[in-house]
Amino acid sequence: MQTIKDNYIYKFSGGNEPVAHASNGETLRFLTRDCFNCQITSEEQTMETIDYEACNPATGPVYVDGAEPGDVLAVDILEITVADHGVVATVKGFGILSELGVSRTRIVEVKDGQVFFNEVTFPAVPMIGVIGTAPSDRSVITGYSFECGGNMDSRKITKGTTVYLPVRVPGGLLSMGDVHAVMGDGEVCETGVEINADIQVRVRIIKDFELNWPVTENEDAWFVNTNGVDCNQAIERGYRELLRLISDAYGWDNTDSTMYMSLQALVEANQAVLGLNYLDEKGPTFRVGVPKLASKPRLIP
Ligand code: ZN
Repeated sequence: MQTIKDNYIYKFSGGNEPVAHASNGETLRFLTRDCFNCQITSEEQTMETIDYEACNPATGPVYVDGAEPGDVLAVDILEITVADHGVVATVKGFGILSELGVSRTRIVEVKDGQVFFNEVTFPAVPMIGVIGTAPSDRSVITGYSFECGGNMDSRKITKGTTVYLPVRVPGGLLSMGDVHAVMGDGEVCETGVEINADIQVRVRIIKDFELNWPVTENEDAWFVNTNGVDCNQAIERGYRELLRLISDAYGWDNTDSTMYMSLQALVEANQAVLGLNYLDEKGPTFRVGVPKLASKPRLIP
Protein backbone atom coordinates (compact mmCIF):
# COMPACT_ATOMS: atom_id res chain seq x y z
CA MET A 1 0.00 0.00 0.00
CA GLN A 2 1.29 3.47 -0.84
CA THR A 3 1.87 5.74 2.15
CA ILE A 4 1.37 9.45 1.57
CA LYS A 5 3.33 11.48 4.13
CA ASP A 6 5.71 14.38 4.74
CA ASN A 7 4.21 16.64 2.09
CA TYR A 8 1.64 19.12 3.27
CA ILE A 9 -0.48 21.67 1.48
CA TYR A 10 -1.95 24.81 3.07
CA LYS A 11 -4.14 25.70 0.09
CA PHE A 12 -6.33 23.53 -2.11
CA SER A 13 -5.19 24.50 -5.59
CA GLY A 14 -4.95 23.00 -9.05
CA GLY A 15 -1.39 24.36 -9.09
CA ASN A 16 -0.18 22.00 -6.36
CA GLU A 17 2.28 19.41 -7.62
CA PRO A 18 1.00 15.86 -6.90
CA VAL A 19 3.21 13.83 -4.56
CA ALA A 20 1.79 10.48 -5.68
CA HIS A 21 -0.43 8.86 -8.28
CA ALA A 22 -3.18 6.38 -7.43
CA SER A 23 -5.31 4.20 -9.64
CA ASN A 24 -9.07 3.78 -9.53
CA GLY A 25 -9.88 1.46 -6.60
CA GLU A 26 -6.49 1.74 -4.95
CA THR A 27 -6.11 1.71 -1.16
CA LEU A 28 -3.83 4.39 0.28
CA ARG A 29 -2.49 5.39 3.65
CA PHE A 30 -2.21 9.07 4.69
CA LEU A 31 -0.13 10.12 7.71
CA THR A 32 -1.52 13.41 8.98
CA ARG A 33 -0.41 16.02 11.52
CA ASP A 34 -2.70 17.78 13.94
CA CYS A 35 -4.21 21.12 12.92
CA PHE A 36 -1.53 23.02 14.87
CA ASN A 37 1.13 21.26 12.78
CA CYS A 38 2.47 19.84 16.05
CA GLN A 39 3.48 23.31 17.26
CA ILE A 40 1.78 22.77 20.64
CA THR A 41 3.71 20.32 22.80
CA SER A 42 2.85 21.44 26.34
CA GLU A 43 -0.04 22.91 28.29
CA GLU A 44 2.09 26.01 28.97
CA GLN A 45 1.77 26.98 25.29
CA THR A 46 -1.43 28.77 24.40
CA MET A 47 -2.61 29.17 20.81
CA GLU A 48 -1.38 32.80 20.79
CA THR A 49 2.19 31.49 20.66
CA ILE A 50 1.89 29.53 17.41
CA ASP A 51 2.23 30.48 13.77
CA TYR A 52 -1.28 30.43 12.27
CA GLU A 53 0.11 30.39 8.74
CA ALA A 54 1.55 26.95 9.50
CA CYS A 55 -1.76 25.53 10.74
CA ASN A 56 -4.10 23.05 9.08
CA PRO A 57 -1.55 21.05 7.07
CA ALA A 58 -3.26 18.61 4.70
CA THR A 59 -1.23 15.62 3.54
CA GLY A 60 -1.05 15.25 -0.24
CA PRO A 61 -2.08 15.90 -2.89
CA VAL A 62 -2.66 12.61 -4.67
CA TYR A 63 -3.45 12.52 -8.37
CA VAL A 64 -6.01 9.82 -9.09
CA ASP A 65 -5.31 8.55 -12.60
CA GLY A 66 -8.37 8.82 -14.81
CA ALA A 67 -10.27 11.35 -12.68
CA GLU A 68 -11.43 14.22 -14.87
CA PRO A 69 -13.42 17.41 -14.27
CA GLY A 70 -17.09 16.43 -14.12
CA ASP A 71 -16.37 13.18 -12.28
CA VAL A 72 -16.77 12.49 -8.58
CA LEU A 73 -14.07 11.05 -6.37
CA ALA A 74 -15.45 8.59 -3.79
CA VAL A 75 -13.16 8.21 -0.77
CA ASP A 76 -14.01 5.20 1.40
CA ILE A 77 -12.68 5.77 4.92
CA LEU A 78 -11.42 2.32 5.92
CA GLU A 79 -9.53 3.11 9.13
CA ILE A 80 -8.49 6.10 11.26
CA THR A 81 -5.87 5.40 13.91
CA VAL A 82 -5.06 8.31 16.22
CA ALA A 83 -2.07 9.09 18.44
CA ASP A 84 -2.21 8.57 22.22
CA HIS A 85 -2.76 12.25 22.99
CA GLY A 86 -4.24 15.34 21.39
CA VAL A 87 -4.80 19.03 22.10
CA VAL A 88 -7.93 21.05 22.87
CA ALA A 89 -7.43 24.80 23.24
CA THR A 90 -9.25 28.08 23.73
CA VAL A 91 -8.02 31.54 22.80
CA LYS A 92 -9.24 34.73 24.38
CA GLY A 93 -11.13 36.63 21.68
CA PHE A 94 -11.93 33.56 19.54
CA GLY A 95 -15.41 32.12 19.52
CA ILE A 96 -18.76 33.18 20.89
CA LEU A 97 -18.05 32.23 24.52
CA SER A 98 -14.52 33.53 24.69
CA GLU A 99 -15.30 36.49 26.97
CA LEU A 100 -16.34 33.97 29.63
CA GLY A 101 -12.97 32.23 29.76
CA VAL A 102 -9.24 32.51 29.25
CA SER A 103 -6.70 31.16 26.78
CA ARG A 104 -6.03 27.58 27.83
CA THR A 105 -4.38 24.50 26.35
CA ARG A 106 -5.14 20.97 27.45
CA ILE A 107 -3.19 17.92 26.38
CA VAL A 108 -5.80 15.17 26.32
CA GLU A 109 -4.98 11.47 26.66
CA VAL A 110 -6.61 9.04 24.23
CA LYS A 111 -6.34 5.42 25.34
CA ASP A 112 -8.28 2.21 24.63
CA GLY A 113 -10.80 4.12 22.57
CA GLN A 114 -11.54 6.60 25.36
CA VAL A 115 -10.83 10.31 25.70
CA PHE A 116 -9.84 11.55 29.17
CA PHE A 117 -10.95 15.10 30.05
CA ASN A 118 -10.87 16.40 33.62
CA GLU A 119 -12.49 13.66 35.73
CA VAL A 120 -14.63 12.26 32.91
CA THR A 121 -14.06 9.89 30.00
CA PHE A 122 -16.01 9.42 26.82
CA PRO A 123 -15.56 7.39 23.61
CA ALA A 124 -13.12 8.58 20.97
CA VAL A 125 -14.82 8.87 17.58
CA PRO A 126 -11.96 9.76 15.23
CA MET A 127 -13.05 11.96 12.32
CA ILE A 128 -11.31 13.70 9.44
CA GLY A 129 -11.67 17.49 9.70
CA VAL A 130 -10.04 18.47 6.40
CA ILE A 131 -10.51 16.44 3.23
CA GLY A 132 -10.88 17.76 -0.28
CA THR A 133 -9.98 17.99 -3.92
CA ALA A 134 -8.68 21.08 -5.71
CA PRO A 135 -10.94 23.82 -7.09
CA SER A 136 -10.43 24.82 -10.73
CA ASP A 137 -10.67 28.58 -10.46
CA ARG A 138 -8.81 29.72 -7.33
CA SER A 139 -6.88 28.59 -4.24
CA VAL A 140 -8.69 27.95 -0.96
CA ILE A 141 -6.77 27.76 2.30
CA THR A 142 -7.04 24.46 4.12
CA GLY A 143 -8.65 26.13 7.14
CA TYR A 144 -11.70 26.96 5.00
CA SER A 145 -14.54 24.88 3.64
CA PHE A 146 -15.76 25.06 0.03
CA GLU A 147 -17.51 23.17 -2.77
CA CYS A 148 -14.73 20.56 -3.07
CA GLY A 149 -14.45 19.88 0.68
CA GLY A 150 -11.73 21.42 2.83
CA ASN A 151 -12.25 22.06 6.53
CA MET A 152 -15.77 20.65 6.72
CA ASP A 153 -15.23 19.38 10.27
CA SER A 154 -18.06 16.87 9.97
CA ARG A 155 -18.15 14.38 12.82
CA LYS A 156 -19.78 11.98 10.33
CA ILE A 157 -16.51 11.59 8.39
CA THR A 158 -15.40 8.56 10.37
CA LYS A 159 -14.32 4.98 9.73
CA GLY A 160 -16.87 3.19 7.55
CA THR A 161 -18.17 6.25 5.73
CA THR A 162 -17.67 7.39 2.15
CA VAL A 163 -16.96 11.00 1.20
CA TYR A 164 -17.90 12.05 -2.35
CA LEU A 165 -15.92 15.00 -3.65
CA PRO A 166 -16.45 16.90 -6.91
CA VAL A 167 -13.50 16.59 -9.31
CA ARG A 168 -12.67 20.00 -10.80
CA VAL A 169 -9.10 19.47 -12.04
CA PRO A 170 -7.46 16.46 -13.72
CA GLY A 171 -6.56 13.84 -11.10
CA GLY A 172 -8.76 15.53 -8.49
CA LEU A 173 -5.73 16.22 -6.24
CA LEU A 174 -6.90 14.66 -2.98
CA SER A 175 -5.47 15.84 0.35
CA MET A 176 -6.54 15.36 3.95
CA GLY A 177 -5.59 16.20 7.54
CA ASP A 178 -6.89 17.80 10.75
CA VAL A 179 -8.10 14.60 12.41
CA HIS A 180 -10.00 14.99 15.68
CA ALA A 181 -10.12 12.14 18.25
CA VAL A 182 -13.54 13.54 19.08
CA MET A 183 -15.51 16.73 18.39
CA GLY A 184 -18.97 17.96 19.30
CA ASP A 185 -21.43 19.37 16.80
CA GLY A 186 -20.59 23.02 16.22
CA GLU A 187 -17.06 22.88 17.71
CA VAL A 188 -17.92 25.82 19.96
CA CYS A 189 -14.41 26.58 21.31
CA GLU A 190 -12.98 26.22 17.78
CA THR A 191 -11.03 23.00 18.36
CA GLY A 192 -11.79 19.33 18.81
CA VAL A 193 -9.19 16.96 20.26
CA GLU A 194 -6.62 17.86 17.59
CA ILE A 195 -4.42 14.84 16.91
CA ASN A 196 -1.92 13.14 14.60
CA ALA A 197 -3.36 10.21 12.67
CA ASP A 198 -2.84 7.33 10.29
CA ILE A 199 -5.70 7.04 7.80
CA GLN A 200 -6.48 4.29 5.30
CA VAL A 201 -8.78 5.08 2.40
CA ARG A 202 -9.82 3.60 -0.93
CA VAL A 203 -10.32 5.97 -3.84
CA ARG A 204 -12.89 5.31 -6.57
CA ILE A 205 -13.86 7.35 -9.60
CA ILE A 206 -17.52 7.88 -10.48
CA LYS A 207 -17.59 9.08 -14.07
CA ASP A 208 -19.71 12.04 -15.19
CA PHE A 209 -21.88 12.72 -12.19
CA GLU A 210 -22.98 16.24 -11.29
CA LEU A 211 -22.08 17.12 -7.71
CA ASN A 212 -21.93 20.71 -6.47
CA TRP A 213 -21.01 20.04 -2.83
CA PRO A 214 -19.33 17.18 -0.97
CA VAL A 215 -21.59 14.36 0.19
CA THR A 216 -21.01 11.94 3.07
CA GLU A 217 -22.64 8.51 3.12
CA ASN A 218 -22.77 6.33 6.21
CA GLU A 219 -24.74 3.20 7.00
CA ASP A 220 -27.95 5.10 7.66
CA ALA A 221 -27.96 8.41 5.80
CA TRP A 222 -26.74 10.72 3.06
CA PHE A 223 -25.49 14.19 4.03
CA VAL A 224 -24.66 17.15 1.80
CA ASN A 225 -21.90 19.28 3.38
CA THR A 226 -22.03 23.00 2.72
CA ASN A 227 -20.77 26.33 4.05
CA GLY A 228 -22.02 29.91 3.79
CA VAL A 229 -21.64 33.42 5.11
CA ASP A 230 -24.00 32.39 7.89
CA CYS A 231 -25.90 29.34 9.10
CA ASN A 232 -28.96 30.19 7.01
CA GLN A 233 -27.05 30.28 3.76
CA ALA A 234 -25.13 27.09 4.54
CA ILE A 235 -28.35 25.21 5.36
CA GLU A 236 -30.21 26.55 2.32
CA ARG A 237 -27.39 25.43 0.03
CA GLY A 238 -27.57 21.99 1.62
CA TYR A 239 -31.31 21.72 1.05
CA ARG A 240 -30.98 22.83 -2.59
CA GLU A 241 -28.30 20.27 -3.44
CA LEU A 242 -30.08 17.51 -1.54
CA LEU A 243 -33.34 18.32 -3.34
CA ARG A 244 -31.58 18.00 -6.69
CA LEU A 245 -30.05 14.64 -5.74
CA ILE A 246 -33.37 13.29 -4.41
CA SER A 247 -35.36 14.46 -7.46
CA ASP A 248 -32.82 12.92 -9.87
CA ALA A 249 -32.54 9.60 -8.01
CA TYR A 250 -36.18 9.08 -7.04
CA GLY A 251 -37.84 10.65 -10.09
CA TRP A 252 -39.79 13.11 -7.97
CA ASP A 253 -40.55 16.72 -8.88
CA ASN A 254 -39.17 19.55 -6.76
CA THR A 255 -42.38 19.94 -4.79
CA ASP A 256 -42.48 16.30 -3.71
CA SER A 257 -38.78 16.40 -2.86
CA THR A 258 -39.33 19.54 -0.77
CA MET A 259 -42.23 17.88 1.05
CA TYR A 260 -40.14 14.76 1.64
CA MET A 261 -37.25 16.78 3.10
CA SER A 262 -39.73 18.64 5.26
CA LEU A 263 -40.78 15.27 6.70
CA GLN A 264 -37.44 13.46 6.89
CA ALA A 265 -34.43 15.81 6.66
CA LEU A 266 -31.56 15.85 9.15
CA VAL A 267 -29.95 19.28 9.67
CA GLU A 268 -26.82 19.20 11.80
CA ALA A 269 -24.00 21.62 12.53
CA ASN A 270 -20.50 20.63 11.48
CA GLN A 271 -18.41 23.63 12.52
CA ALA A 272 -20.65 26.56 13.35
CA VAL A 273 -18.80 28.73 15.81
CA LEU A 274 -21.08 31.66 15.02
CA GLY A 275 -18.43 34.36 14.67
CA LEU A 276 -19.17 37.70 13.03
CA ASN A 277 -17.95 39.08 9.71
CA TYR A 278 -17.51 35.77 8.04
CA LEU A 279 -16.22 35.34 4.57
CA ASP A 280 -18.21 32.76 2.67
CA GLU A 281 -15.57 30.05 2.80
CA LYS A 282 -14.64 30.85 6.38
CA GLY A 283 -18.28 30.65 7.44
CA PRO A 284 -20.15 27.91 9.25
CA THR A 285 -20.44 24.44 7.75
CA PHE A 286 -23.50 22.25 8.01
CA ARG A 287 -24.65 18.84 6.88
CA VAL A 288 -28.16 18.46 5.51
CA GLY A 289 -29.25 14.87 5.01
CA VAL A 290 -31.92 12.25 4.62
CA PRO A 291 -32.07 8.62 5.76
CA LYS A 292 -31.12 5.95 3.22
CA LEU A 293 -34.08 4.07 1.76
CA ALA A 294 -33.64 0.42 0.80
CA SER A 295 -36.57 0.67 -1.62
CA LYS A 296 -35.15 3.60 -3.61
CA PRO A 297 -32.00 4.08 -5.73
CA ARG A 298 -28.87 5.49 -4.17
CA LEU A 299 -28.47 9.27 -4.35
CA ILE A 300 -25.00 8.75 -5.84
CA PRO A 301 -24.41 5.58 -7.90
ZN1 ZN B 1 -9.19 20.51 13.78
